[in-house]
Amino acid sequence: MESDMKPNVLMERYELGRLLGQGTFGKVYYARSTVTNQSVAIKAIEKDKVMRTGQVDRIKREISVMKLARHPNIIQLFEVMATKSKIYFVMEYAKGGELFDKVCKGRLKEKVAHRYFKQLINAVDFCHSRGVYHRDIKPENVLLDENGNLKVSDFGLSALVESNQQDIILRTPCGTPAYVAPEVIKRKGYDGAKADIWSCGIVLFVLLAGYLPFHDSNLIEMYRKIHKAELKCPGWFRPEVCKLLSDILDPNPDTRISIEKIKEHCWFKNELTARNKKQLLENNTVSSSSSVVSDQNDENDGPESEAKEESVVPISINAFDIISLSASFDLSRFFKDGVQKREARFSSKLPASVIISKIEDIAKQLRMKIKKKAAGLLKLEGFDEGRKGVLSIDAEIFEVTPNFHLVEVKKSNGDTLEYQKILKEDIRPALQDIVWVWQSDQQQQSQQSDQQLQIHDQQQRQPQS
Ligand code: ATP
Ligand code: MG
Repeated sequence: MESDMKPNVLMERYELGRLLGQGTFGKVYYARSTVTNQSVAIKAIEKDKVMRTGQVDRIKREISVMKLARHPNIIQLFEVMATKSKIYFVMEYAKGGELFDKVCKGRLKEKVAHRYFKQLINAVDFCHSRGVYHRDIKPENVLLDENGNLKVSDFGLSALVESNQQDIILRTPCGTPAYVAPEVIKRKGYDGAKADIWSCGIVLFVLLAGYLPFHDSNLIEMYRKIHKAELKCPGWFRPEVCKLLSDILDPNPDTRISIEKIKEHCWFKNELTARNKKQLLENNTVSSSSSVVSDQNDENDGPESEAKEESVVPISINAFDIISLSASFDLSRFFKDGVQKREARFSSKLPASVIISKIEDIAKQLRMKIKKKAAGLLKLEGFDEGRKGVLSIDAEIFEVTPNFHLVEVKKSNGDTLEYQKILKEDIRPALQDIVWVWQSDQQQQSQQSDQQLQIHDQQQRQPQS
């Protein structure tokens, strides 16, 4: 057939156009239906990157729910197609791009922010009532249509990746996990609904303030701030908004406000007293120097933002920010003062198989046996009983990309002094060929911005054409 010859026609049905953006798991293209001529967005995902065992039923359920769900503020999922290696999600195309491109130019007027927040909450409420949780509400997923209406994308798709929560920090193209709820970071079993509500609160704050409520160029510090959730509202926020925000950005998910209660809140319902109305009017007519973006359809809105310094700027993640924040580690220790460093960590630009065989070699040299080989975990065990039992060392390997790994080496049993001696005199020198950088070395140069992860570049969004 003729269309088979055209490389840019997908399944004989969609003519693929320009790249709209790139996420961690695939690319999103503009496309047009050859049948109806309708514009769509197609997200192409590599199957093997997302399908994890045990998740298939839930993924199928959520996706089928989303195919049936119609809401004016949710990107509709038209159809899902699959080839042997790829899954294609054919979605409604949001012509207006990302909402946050507007905020980058300066904070929004309260009236405009209110409208977007209402649409966001309505969308989230609609999906929650159908048992679908977003779990990844962030700027890249809050889009606008050609009429300036908010459209949430990727609802239900997070099920594809949820089993790999450490990806949260890797999947943020701006490099900021600033929208993630504290209980998600702490990797306690969490309630998807409550986590979504938290993210909506961050969105509201950013719309009104033009910058993030909990932000720091150091990721550990940022997580500490999110964890503490000490909210400081700028002077131009009205008290009702501050109250609503502090109820949403409650670090305890059990006491965090529900969607039902948000919808009853006077600010949400826009029940303004006469005094408030006057204040709101004044707020909305502030002089240009305060960089309030005027209208959602005005493409050239506002002067350069005053709040620029604090606005949503990309930050860079270094390898050990990632390793420390990986959900596969117990994060609680990072929130305690005087962190004790027992483990040694390094990054490697080599494939996992090379790292594993190197560790096996070292075990052989040290006359230790490889006790257990779970996914990414090697347990090295000595033969002799030491002062405190048999020395046992764990080496855990985390994949960032197939050619970039983070490895943690720690003692799991035995004498600490003996372990430290072996680590210093045998293990570290023997690992020399495969180590890109040790955490301790990197921390010494941590302020040098050129020591950034290559992965960050990969995560950076492609410029939209
Ligand atoms: P993640 O990999 O975590 O999903 P992401 O949301 O940035 O991150 P994608 O969902 O793959 O990644 O989307 C990539 C970009 O494509 C988005 O940032 C957005 O700008 C654009 N995009 C996605 N869906 C649409 C759509 N339906 N209409 C228009 N643009 C879209
Ligand atoms: Mg997305």
